[in-house]
Amino acid sequence: MTGLDRRQFVRLNAVALAGAAMAPGFTVARHPGGGSPTTGPLAPPGFYRFSLGEMQITTLNDGSFGLPSAIPGVDVSPHEFLALNVDPETRSKFFRSRMVPADDLPLEASPVLIDSGQQRFLVDTGGWIGEPAPSSVGRLGAAMTAAGVSPESIDVVVLTHAHPDHVGGLLDPATRLPRFPNAEVVISDVELELWTGEGAEDRFRDLPLPLPETQAVIRAMDDRMRTIRPGDEVATGIRSEPSPGHTEGHVSILVESGGQELLLTGDAIVSTHAAFEQPDWQSMFDHDPEQAARTRRRLLDRAATDEMLILGYHFPFAGLGYAVRDGQGYRWLPVGSGSAA
Ligand SMILES: [Zn+2]
Repeated sequence: MTGLDRRQFVRLNAVALAGAAMAPGFTVARHPGGGSPTTGPLAPPGFYRFSLGEMQITTLNDGSFGLPSAIPGVDVSPHEFLALNVDPETRSKFFRSRMVPADDLPLEASPVLIDSGQQRFLVDTGGWIGEPAPSSVGRLGAAMTAAGVSPESIDVVVLTHAHPDHVGGLLDPATRLPRFPNAEVVISDVELELWTGEGAEDRFRDLPLPLPETQAVIRAMDDRMRTIRPGDEVATGIRSEPSPGHTEGHVSILVESGGQELLLTGDAIVSTHAAFEQPDWQSMFDHDPEQAARTRRRLLDRAATDEMLILGYHFPFAGLGYAVRDGQGYRWLPVGSGSAA
C-alpha cells in the first residue's frame, strides 16, 4: 500500500465516508481539463426505463456529489482516492488520458427500480446521513415522481450495503419516518451484523463514519427488516451475489427474466475507468481493498464471459453497459437509450 500504512488508510477511508455524511453544501462540479457533464442542482430529475424479459427496470438518478469536495477531512485527489497502491506518475498519466479531473470528480448515485409485474423492488435509496447533505443529492423522490412511481407502491427495498449514500433515503427527509411505508427492507446478515452487531463500536473505532446515525436509520427499519445470506434469492428472478470488500456484507443483485440477465454491481465496481481497466488498483472507498479487488475481478470476469448487462450505482447515468476483456483488464462499453436490453 504505497505511502500509506494500513492504519492511516483506514483512518482516511473512514474520514472519507464520515465526511461524506457531513458535507457542508455542494457546488456544481467543475471540469478542469475535461470530464463529462453531470447532474447539478439545476438538473431535472432523471430516470431511464427499459425492459429485461418480462420485467421493467428503471434507473432513478438521486443526483451527484463531488469527490473529494463532499468529503471534508480527506485531502487527496480523486486520482489517489481511486488508485492508492499506484505510483503518482502512473496514475496521473492514466487518469489524465481518460479526462478524469485531478481536483474533483463528480459521482452520480442511481437507485434502481425493478418491476417484476407482481412486485416492485427498489435497490438502494440514495440520500445522505448527517446534516447538511450536499444540495445535489437526495432527488430520488423527484425522480420517482417523474417516473410515475409512488413510495407506497414499493414492496421491497433491497440494500447492497449500508453506506450513507445507499441507506440515507430510507427515511422521508421531511418526516424522518420510513419513506416506503409498505416495503420490507432486505439486507445481508453480514452487513447488518457489521453495522449493528455486538462490537460495532470497536469495528468502527478508527472509522469515524456516522455510526450512531446510520444505526438509527437501520433500526428504524426493525419492524420491516428481512435478512438474507449473501447468495440467497431475494425473490423469483432476483438473487443476491456475494461481493465483499467494499463493505464486509456487500451484495450485488442479479436480475434474470426471459433468458436475459442484468447485474446490479452496487459499489463493488465504483468507476468506469480504473475499476475496469485496472481492477487491482485499490480504492479508498473500500473497507478491505484487497478483497474488493478480488471481487471486482470475479464480477468482471463473469460479466465479460456471459456478455451480461451490468448497471453500476455510481456510473455516469444511466449506468448501463457491458464489460469486455481488454489486455489484463476490461473495458466499459456503455449502452444508451434505445440500445439497452
Ligand atoms: Zn456508494
